[in-house]
Amino acid sequence: MSEQFDLIVIGAGSGGVAASRRAAAHGARVLIAEADRVGGTCVIRGCVPKKLMMYAAGYAQALQEASGYGWTDVSGRFEMSRWADAKAREIDRLEGIYRKMLADGGVELALGRARLLAPDTVDIDGRTLRAGRILIATGGAPAHDALPGLELAMTSNDVLNLREVPKSLLVIGGGYIAMEFASILAGLGSKVTVAYRATHPLRGFDTDLRTRLAQALEARGITLAAGVGLKALQRGESGFALQRADGSVLTADAALNATGRRPNTAGLGLEEAGVRLTAGGAVAVDADSRSSAPGIWAIGDVTDRVNLTPVAIAEGRAFADTEFGGRHVRVDHRTVASAVFTDPPIATVGLSEADAMKLGPVDVYEADFRPMKTAFAGSDARSYMKLVVDGLSERVLGIHMIGADAPEIVQSLAVAMTCGATKRDFDRTLAVHPTAAEEFVLMRQPSRSVGPVSSPIN
Ligand code: NDP
Repeated sequence: MSEQFDLIVIGAGSGGVAASRRAAAHGARVLIAEADRVGGTCVIRGCVPKKLMMYAAGYAQALQEASGYGWTDVSGRFEMSRWADAKAREIDRLEGIYRKMLADGGVELALGRARLLAPDTVDIDGRTLRAGRILIATGGAPAHDALPGLELAMTSNDVLNLREVPKSLLVIGGGYIAMEFASILAGLGSKVTVAYRATHPLRGFDTDLRTRLAQALEARGITLAAGVGLKALQRGESGFALQRADGSVLTADAALNATGRRPNTAGLGLEEAGVRLTAGGAVAVDADSRSSAPGIWAIGDVTDRVNLTPVAIAEGRAFADTEFGGRHVRVDHRTVASAVFTDPPIATVGLSEADAMKLGPVDVYEADFRPMKTAFAGSDARSYMKLVVDGLSERVLGIHMIGADAPEIVQSLAVAMTCGATKRDFDRTLAVHPTAAEEFVLMRQPSRSVGPVSSPIN
């Protein structure tokens, strides 16, 4: 006989865990199935270990700066295996916290591979379960189909499990994962080359951030092989060779495939259960995360909307509040802040200058300076900030920064943008001095006014 639940969630990553706990808090009987480790991509093989690796890399620069501040005998050698052991302990600890949160929340955890047998029936390694509602939250995985030979390269999962820093590294792609690991591994001592087909890295970000990131990474000794198509990756006795469309070949000891991720929809029995998939293999959903099959919803990277952890969490909670909490909640995907943890880091919320000026007249305010902390230690590193402001209504449409602490600063400013702040609100905000963040409230004159003259931008 099959067991009956109100909700079965497939996938115990950030989104699935958030949805299951919220639904259980509303009184639902919930089971969550997970085929791997509890915590998913973000906690086990993504954001969290990546950030721990970024912190490790940051000490190289901190040691250099220390001598500029009068410290002596500041040198050190990075042993990646020591970092790897400490990281593994930390991830175990966090996985334990996730499991405890599920147990404390009254959510039953079933470890095993889940597959839909019908729109209301799930098989988990031979156990048959039924539920009024099923939520697909299986996330995504690295893609290998952009060019031949990519399966030979490491993925971000493998880089996070390295126990030695490769002498040289070829990073293939110019997106989030490519730029973050290029920056981190260079910080740890690898000789890094990044190959991407666009002129600038990080397609979709404001052009001023993209060009400044490229300059800053090159100043740190990273080779950016940009603007040429990529043809094939080969592996020989002396390492990896990447053929490019102009006939040139880039070589390195190790290679990282960072050409994007694909939704995890294979083997779940989705299409047999009537769930429509998009051309890219994602679960097609409406604004309430509802799939084409009655009783089945999907959230997070498996839907390929905005593939970020906080978005998956918000989608999961909105689903649970709507279906079990008696309150219709919808996620607004238009103003999602995000950060790229390079050195220097990037953070952004709202419209880029180029996107905003398509919609109406725009005033652009900028600040570009050498931050006190690194300038004192003799560094030429710069920070850059930009406000994109509606030329008619004065509403702030975009906030962009590259430089130390950009993710922390932009996270706070995202609140102001969510509240619909105008440039005048920024102007009447007093500065916290001396900080870098104060530059955002001290921008007096626009550096330029651009875009067509039309009605204010909504
Ligand atoms: P991205 O989509 O960011 O980048 C993929 C890169 O691969 C792009 O540079 C793209 O080039 C390139 N590419 C794709 N196909 C080809 C091809 N056929 N030939 C040459 N180049 C190709 O994916 P990532 O893997 O970096 O990251 C996946 C997702 O994970 C991101 O979208 C992001 O949402 C999330 N993430 C977020 C992080 C954060 O918030 N800090 C960190 C890491 C990941 P092109 O631009 O020219 O198409």
